[in-house]
Order: sequence, then C-alpha cells, then structure tokens
Amino acid sequence: MTTTQTNDQLSQWDHDHFFHPSTHLGQFARREMGNRIITGANGVHITDREGKSSLDAFAGLYCVNVGYGRTEIADAIAAQAHELAYYHSYVGHGTEASITLSRMVAERAPEGLNHVYYGMSGSDANETNIKLVWYYNNVLGRPEKKKIISRWRGYHGSGLMTGSLTGLELFHKKFDLPLNQVVHTEAPYYFRRADRSMTEEAFSADCAQKLEALIEREGADTIAAFIGEPVLGTGGIVPPPAGYWEAIQKVLAKHDILLIADEVVTGFGRLGTMMGSDHYGLKPDLVTIAKGLTSAYAPLSGSIVSDKIWQVLEQGTDEFGPIGHGWTYSAHPIGAAAGVANLKLLDSLDLVSNAGTVGQYLNTAMADALGDHANVGDIRGEGMLCAIELVKDRDDHVFFDAADKVGPRIAAAMLEHGVIARAMPQGDIIGFAPPFSLTTAQADQIVAATHAAVKETLG
Ligand code: PLP
Repeated sequence: MTTTQTNDQLSQWDHDHFFHPSTHLGQFARREMGNRIITGANGVHITDREGKSSLDAFAGLYCVNVGYGRTEIADAIAAQAHELAYYHSYVGHGTEASITLSRMVAERAPEGLNHVYYGMSGSDANETNIKLVWYYNNVLGRPEKKKIISRWRGYHGSGLMTGSLTGLELFHKKFDLPLNQVVHTEAPYYFRRADRSMTEEAFSADCAQKLEALIEREGADTIAAFIGEPVLGTGGIVPPPAGYWEAIQKVLAKHDILLIADEVVTGFGRLGTMMGSDHYGLKPDLVTIAKGLTSAYAPLSGSIVSDKIWQVLEQGTDEFGPIGHGWTYSAHPIGAAAGVANLKLLDSLDLVSNAGTVGQYLNTAMADALGDHANVGDIRGEGMLCAIELVKDRDDHVFFDAADKVGPRIAAAMLEHGVIARAMPQGDIIGFAPPFSLTTAQADQIVAATHAAVKETLG
C-alpha cells in the first residue's frame, strides 16, 4: 500500500481502532508494548516502516513457505482479479483455477483422498471436517458416535469447535471452552514425559494405551474421530516419538474411529516431503490444509476427503438433499489462482526438497551451537521445523516459571539481532519455521542470533 500517513498517525489509529488477534489488549492500549507496521518483504526478509529489515525465521505464521515477493503468484492473483475476481462455487459452479487446484491437491494428497472442500482458514477447514464426520455418522445411522478426541497441546484453530480441539490453556481460558463433545488425550511430548526412564517406543505405547483407556471410558460407540497434527506445532513444535502414529492408528482402527490429519503446517512440504501423513505413514480419512496451499499469498484452506467418506456423503445427499454447508468465499477464484501458482512454484524450484536438506542443516547447526548450554533442555525438529526448549535445570529437568518470560525475552533479544523467531505460547520454547527457500548461510545467521540471544538472556 502506498504510504500516505505519518508513522505517528498510523500508530495512533492502530492503538485506537485495530483489535489485534492474540495480543495483550491492556498492554497494547497502554502502549506498554509497541506495534510494528510492516511495509514490504522479499525472500526471507520483511521490512517495517522504520526501515528495519528482519530475517523471518517463522515465515509469518509458518505459512509463507515459498518466501516473500514471488511475482509468479502476485501476477496470477492480479490476472485472476482482472478476469474474474469472484464467483461462488455453490450448486456446481467453479472456475478454471478452482478446478485445476482441486486436481493438483488430489495428486499431492495421501492415497485415497480425492475430493477437496475449500474454506478460508485452517480453523474453518477443521470446523468443516467435524461437521462432515458428524454428517457421516448420522447417514450411517450412528447418531451417538460424535465425540472428537484431540491431544493436549494440539492446535486446530480458534473457533468454538476448533478452539475446543486445541489443547492449549490460553485458547480455552474465559471462553467457556472446550465444548463437551471434545475430549483430550496425552500429548506425544517425549521431552516432557512424566516417567523419565521410558524409551521413545515405550512412551508411544503408553500414549496409545492412554488413548485406548479414554475410548473405553467414554465408550467407542460415542467417539467419532481423532484429530492430530503429524508434528505438534503451536503446542511446542514436537515431532512424534518413534512408533507413535503406528500405535495410535492401531487403536483407532480397532474402535472404528476416523482419523483427521491436521496438515495446516505440515502440508505441501514443510517436513521435506509433500504431506506429513506420507512422512509418518498416516492413513487419514480427512486432511486439513491451509497455510502452505497458497503460501499465504491469499487466504485459502481445504478439507481433503477420502473416498470412504465421500461415498457416504453422496449417499447422504441422495437421501437428504444438497449438503447444507457452504461459505460465500469457498474456492474463491483469487485464492485458487494463488494456490495453483504456489504449487507450481514449489515444484519448479524444488522447494520441498530444499526444505528437507536446509531444514536438516538448520537443526544440526542449532544442536552444534546450543546443545551444550546448561539451559537448553531439548533441540528438536523435522524438515524445516526446529525448536529449542529452555529449562532452569537440565539435570533435574526443572522448567522456568512462566512469569520469568524466558521464551519471550529470548525472542525479543533475537529481534535485536535481526531474526524473527516465535516464542511458542505454552512453555519456554523458541520455534523456527523459515521459508523453504532458506539458504545454509541464512540458517547460520538464525543459529548465530539464537546463540547470542540465549547467552545474553541466560548467560
Ligand atoms: N491447524 C493447525 C495445525 C494450525 O497450526 C493452525 C494455525 O496455526 C490452524 C489449524 C488454524 O488455522 P487458521 O489460523 O488459518 O485458522
């Protein structure tokens, strides 16, 4: 946008009128925290109105996967806006972009998932998934089979249902969530396991046993689906312990419980493979996609539906009429055009493979630089995802007090070194999820800034 206001004026309006998400509103209003007005971006860097440039090691909110400033996507959006900015997709309407994108998504989806319903956000796509699961069981004559199992520390959105699925305290507190159709089970968080003597495999078996006990307590005939991210994201960037998904899927199959793989973060390459489900051998019934679908150049999400569910949906509409679920902006042509251009770019620049190799480099370099620090309890990651977890005492496994704000202080110190990382919302965890176009030299810069910030904050 062309600059028309002075920084002071914009800042004033910002504080007076802009209700920012996930923000401490009191502190913002009292100006105890600053604002940052972003004006431009290119590659892995963003620039603000003060002229400060930062290396964005979190790709926005792990979404600008192909990097900033890609003219191929901007041009596709502009061309679509000129040709046809909008038409709806109800009752069989579509555009070349939305139909082409559906084909491209189906080609990249796990086997047996061939139909895509579009939304605007990861939250609404998960909302769609839960409605589809309920519809499915109603059509099959199983009206009691409706509860959804999610994991503590899972993140699935901020709506009423999706905020309930989310297993983080901040997203429930004072919102009267979770709703009672949602039950939570153990997080597959090996570093925080209660029994320190357990191997990864034993811990995975324990998670599966706890899931089974929960299902038996609730009654399998009341549980419709299990939802999980292949790698826990906002809950701490935690790859699953060895054997986890295999053990969990066995339990789900035994009790006829559907699996929803929330691939909002892992979909389209972040783990160095096209889909996280394929990476870990998940066989989901529904897959949630968003961020990486367009690299956030336009808002677009999707629910990819398996042939098994699709057949029942078809049967349902034969019996009960058209499916009563529609968004005005479903398959918005501009989002769809951005999606087609984005997925083409991922392929032509071989970015998924770069995410794998440079991601591995970043994780190794981080471990080399910080693995010996007395306050670094864990360094973990997969593909272009990495996290470090800070602890007060590494030998006795003691965590810092949340009030010490160690994570946010380190992230703030990193910004002074020109690198944006994310202080994850629960625990002192610094998260990294850079664009896939990251180079090894930029990975070194991220590691150097992290090392400096940890030293300055904790010695
Ligand atoms: N699911 C996962 C795994 C996410 O990480 C997110 C957002 O970070 C969502 C769902 C919600 O997506 P949105 O913020 O687009 O609603």
